[in-house]
Amino acid sequence: MNIIDTHAHLDHLDNIEQALKSASENGVEAIVAVGVDLAANKKNLELKFKTQHPKIYVALGIHPGNIKQGEVDDGIQFIRDHIREAKAIGEIGLDFWYKWVKKDQQKKDEQRQVFRRQLKLAKEFNLPVVIHSRGTWRECFETAKEEGIKKAVFHWYSGPLDVLEDIVKNDYFVSATPSIVYSPQSREAIRHAPIENTLIETDSPVYFGTDETDGFKAEPKDVVRTLKAYCALKNMEEEKALEIFNRNAKKFFGLD
Ligand SMILES: [Zn+2]
Repeated sequence: MNIIDTHAHLDHLDNIEQALKSASENGVEAIVAVGVDLAANKKNLELKFKTQHPKIYVALGIHPGNIKQGEVDDGIQFIRDHIREAKAIGEIGLDFWYKWVKKDQQKKDEQRQVFRRQLKLAKEFNLPVVIHSRGTWRECFETAKEEGIKKAVFHWYSGPLDVLEDIVKNDYFVSATPSIVYSPQSREAIRHAPIENTLIETDSPVYFGTDETDGFKAEPKDVVRTLKAYCALKNMEEEKALEIFNRNAKKFFGLD
């Protein structure tokens, strides 16, 4: 199998070397390592340079949940300084569900500002963006569109179908995680999204599962689970789906 995990937080994994080894043994050919802050972006770049297989590509970004006082300017400057190494800007976006943001208008505006600054960077360098849009699907979509973004993936999409329709109409993407086994919202969204606008990923090391289903802490090798769950959900042949997902990922991120 030659499969690509399009979204993993490699820097967060407990045992990176072991995870990369078993990814390789399970047919993972490439991983897009997605950053959330300055430290993660640095670490993922290091990993990219010292890893032969699977091939590691990086997305550089500041996640809405990782905005640190006094670090934003340096964080964005770091991305700009290493833009030639990046295949995308991400993970960026909005998320107002965090306890410290929920009732704080200033924190929301700060997220909006950091999001826009990074969208402008993506636009300037003609890079795709990886968007975190939990609970803010409509606003994230409108903001990306307003900033003239041509390529965007709404990572782990579980939002409403009307926004999904606009995402697809605009030729943006959504991505599926192993949550499509059990989450009604994820299942519904991914069932409706055309495969031509879908990527598969793991969001490693996120924990997937519920009390009723077997849980596991994801590693990049689990992108195979995402593929299998996708094919079960859409009643598709694995080989056929994989071919399309690989083509999508390569085209979206401009992988060689
Ligand atoms: Zn993520």
